[in-house]
Amino acid sequence: MPNFSLQDQVFFDAAAQFQTPFHLYCEKNIRETARRLAAAFHGVPDFREYFAVKALPTPGVLRILKDEGCGVDCASLTELMLADSCGFTGKDIMFSANAVPPEEFALARKLGAYINLDDITHVEILRQNGGIPEEICMRFNPGGTFRIGNTIMGDPGDAKYGMTREQLTEALVSMKNDGVKRFGLHSFLSSNTTDPTYYPALAKLLFETGKELMEETGIPLSFINLSGGIGIPYLPDAPVADIDAIGAGVSAMYDEVFTQNGISGVAIKTELGRYMTGPNGWLVTHVTNEKNIHKHYIGLDASACDLMRPAMYGAYHHITIPGKEHLPHDQQVDVTGSLCENNDKFAIDRMLPQLDIGDLLVIHDTGAHGLSMGYNYNGKLRCKEVLYHEDGFFEMIRRAETPRDYFNTLDVDPAWTQLEEKYSI
Ligand SMILES: *Cc1c(COP(=O)(O)O)cnc(C)c1O
Repeated sequence: MPNFSLQDQVFFDAAAQFQTPFHLYCEKNIRETARRLAAAFHGVPDFREYFAVKALPTPGVLRILKDEGCGVDCASLTELMLADSCGFTGKDIMFSANAVPPEEFALARKLGAYINLDDITHVEILRQNGGIPEEICMRFNPGGTFRIGNTIMGDPGDAKYGMTREQLTEALVSMKNDGVKRFGLHSFLSSNTTDPTYYPALAKLLFETGKELMEETGIPLSFINLSGGIGIPYLPDAPVADIDAIGAGVSAMYDEVFTQNGISGVAIKTELGRYMTGPNGWLVTHVTNEKNIHKHYIGLDASACDLMRPAMYGAYHHITIPGKEHLPHDQQVDVTGSLCENNDKFAIDRMLPQLDIGDLLVIHDTGAHGLSMGYNYNGKLRCKEVLYHEDGFFEMIRRAETPRDYFNTLDVDPAWTQLEEKYSI
C-alpha cells in the first residue's frame, strides 16, 4: 500500500514559505497513484484513466497526470478550455456533460473530444452543434437500485444522469444514419466506494449491455468507460481500495463476457477523481482563535470556502497537529472557519491535543473535491494551492484570490482602482 502521509516537517517547511491557508499537493504520491492504477489494469486492453477535472482543476496537477499518460474528463466550457490549455487534445478528452448548453458541444467537437451523450434529446442538439462524430460514448442509467448481493451501492433510479436501456438503442440506431461507426458505453452508479466488487459488477453490467447493443444495432463497441467512484479512506481506520483486486476483477469479467464469446479489442477507460488525488492533498492552516462557551471552539484561518465537504455532506476529514501528535488527544473541540454559517465546521466533537493559537493544523484528504468546490460566501477569498515537488521544493500552482478578483465582476463606484488606493491593498 502506498504511504500517503507526509512528515510533519514538510508541513512546517511549506508553512514557513507560504502564508496559510493553502492546499498542499504531493507530486510523488500523485505519480505513484497513477502508476499503481495503470499496473492494476494491465490485464485489460488499452486501459486509460481520464482524470475527472472537477476534482482538482489546476494545471500544475493536470500536467503531472498528462505526463503519466492520463486523459481528462470535462463537464463544462471552462473545464474544456483548461484541458486544451494544458495540452490535452482530441481523444485525450472525454466530455461528460448533462443539461449541457449547446455551444459546449460545439467546442468539445472542435477539440476532437469524445462526447459522452447523457440524453436522447442531445442527439439532435449535437447534430446542430458540431455534428455527430464517428465514435460516440453513451451514458447508461439502468434505473432502480444498484445492488451487489444485499448491499445497495447506489440509486440510479433517482439520478439525473444517463439514458434508459431503450433510449440507448433508439439513440444509437438514429445516429447510425449520421455515420456513427463505433460506440463506447459509460455508467456511474456508486460514489466513494472502496468495495472491490463495485467495478467488476459495473463492468459486468456494461459489458453485457454493450454486447447486446452491438448485436441490436450492428455498431461495433469500441470501449467501456467505468467512470469514477472508487473511494478513499477518509477515516484513519477505514479500508483502502484494493486496486489490484479491482483491476483483476474487471479483467476476469472481461474474459467471461468478451473473450470467451469471441469479442476482443474493447478498450477500458476510467474517470477517477477522488482516488487519484484525494489522499494526496492537505489543507494547511493555523489556529487563529479559541473560544469557550457551551462548547470548546478552535477557529482557523481557513473556512468552508476552501473546503466545503464537511459543511455540505458532514464529511469526515482527519486532522493532525504537526509537532503535537505524540501528546494525548484529550481535548474535545469543534474546529471551525469564520463564516457566518454554523455549519462552517471542519470537525465536531473531535478529540485533539491541547491547542494554542498559532499552532499549525492540517486537514487531510483534501486533494479531490476540495478547493474546486470552494465558493465566495461572506466575500471570503479562496486560498492558494502549493505543489510539493518530487525533488523537495514547493511551488505555488494557484495563487490565493484577491479582493480585486472578487470585485472584478462588480460595477463599483468609485472604480476599483480607487478602492485599492483607499484601502491600500
Ligand atoms: C464526478 C465524476 C467523476 C469522478 O468521480 P470520483 O468520485 O471523484 O471518482 C467521474 N465521471 C463523471 C462523469 C463525474 O461526474
